Amino acid sequence: MSVDVSAQDQRETSNPISREVFDRSLLRAINEASPDGILVVDDRGMVVSYNQRFIDIWQLDMNIVQANTLTDGTIPENKMMYAAFALLKYPEPFIKRVVELYANPWERDYCEIELNDGRTLERHSVGLHADGDHYYGRVWFFRDVTERKRGEAALRELACRDPLTGELNRGHFMERAAEEQERAKRHKKPLGVLMLDLDYFKSINDRFGHAAGDKVLETVCKRWRSVLRNADLLGRLGGEEFAILLPDSDWDATLLVAERLRSSIADQPVYDGVTEIFCTVSGGVTLLSPTDASIEDALYRADIALYRAKNQGRNRMEYNP
Ligand code: GH3
Ligand code: MG
Ligand code: MG
Repeated sequence: MSVDVSAQDQRETSNPISREVFDRSLLRAINEASPDGILVVDDRGMVVSYNQRFIDIWQLDMNIVQANTLTDGTIPENKMMYAAFALLKYPEPFIKRVVELYANPWERDYCEIELNDGRTLERHSVGLHADGDHYYGRVWFFRDVTERKRGEAALRELACRDPLTGELNRGHFMERAAEEQERAKRHKKPLGVLMLDLDYFKSINDRFGHAAGDKVLETVCKRWRSVLRNADLLGRLGGEEFAILLPDSDWDATLLVAERLRSSIADQPVYDGVTEIFCTVSGGVTLLSPTDASIEDALYRADIALYRAKNQGRNRMEYNP
């Protein structure tokens, strides 16, 4: 087997390229093609290099950058970054960390930076060293990760929610409920606690079909949302069982809301596009008590009242002090 290396030989001999030229063109390519905004600062605090992406990410005014550029092409870093500080949501820790990193040439850095306009940047930084210990400066990389962060937040949100109704699923409701209980205890505020269960829901499925049952569940939650405040917590614990927490609500307020929740379902049928479906809900109501060890204790008390509401004919709210 023979390999033709003549073309390669020719290239090497006809176009010799020095290491220095190669490095320079590599740097140019990195600067142009990198998704990162890149800033290089020397050991005297002078900016020796930056790319267009850096200017774009920090929304720097090129007129100001140019006005501060010295005859040797460098720019004092503070002059370059001055306008950018106004974009920072938390300028103090940012500046503190930058000072710290300049004081520690060997330290590498990674962090996320939140900006006032809602963007999130990722910052990486590493010292520039040569010949063993000699420190030449530091290079900073900034990447706009806003889209990724929004995607992650949307996924987290999705994982907390029941896909049919869009309300909190059991796991997440219980987590948030424990926090509400802590908060109510700490601030000595009342907390209304309700357990709700749709009446004869099995027969709705049997008569009108599972899709119609789903439509009822969706509509029930929508109506309840319009009764509740934003701060109230609504969770679908399973099937046609729900729990609700009403922060800062005493007995009067909680019983009033409970009645509104009941009548919002009983007073008006659900229309699934074909049939009008009449449906009712029963509920058990209690308040968080100072002797409750956890939110489960209060939910259990509400559940006992719910059981009583079922036994006493349904479509009613019972309370258990
Ligand atoms: P009660 O008044 O005593 O609460 O009677 P019920 O029929 O509502 O109670 P039961 O627990 O016997 O039935 C609950 C029904 O809810 C059974 C189940 O098929 C139905 N269900 C649970 N989850 C869903 C759902 O996501 N969609 C639909 N369509 N039905 C569901
Ligand atoms: Mg039921
Ligand atoms: Mg049930």
